[in-house]
Amino acid sequence: KESRAMKFQRQHMDPGGPSNNSNYCNQMMRRRNMTKGWCKRVNTFVHEPLVDVQAVCFQGNITCKNGQPNCHKSNSSMNITDCHETSGSKYPNCDYQTSHKERHIIVACEGNPYVPVHFDASV
Ligand code: C5P
Repeated sequence: KESRAMKFQRQHMDPGGPSNNSNYCNQMMRRRNMTKGWCKRVNTFVHEPLVDVQAVCFQGNITCKNGQPNCHKSNSSMNITDCHETSGSKYPNCDYQTSHKERHIIVACEGNPYVPVHFDASV
């Protein structure tokens, strides 16, 4: 079974990206299996080395949106791509708006080793 840490990497890690391409989210949301059964509405991909994203677990500790205490905000801004489902998107033809940004990321971490398991927000 896919671990929560592996699921985080599948849904949120793309260190090689972003390809400078307005179809990025349409391709990546499908390729990373987030358009099966339904269209996931919002998803962020992070374009930084995995070790740098894992290091966020040892940076500023904050409360997550759901009230849990194990969220962490990156000290530095990171290259990310925001994928937002468009108003015209209709499953199974999931359609996304692609926006490249530089933001601080907020992730939840768990386990031993203590690694990212959830993407909470970018700010
Ligand atoms: O904030 P919300 O509960 O709607 O988030 C649901 C999921 O959407 C998160 O678990 C995360 O996978 C994704 N998300 C994201 N980037 C954001 C907000 C949410 O990837 N900025």
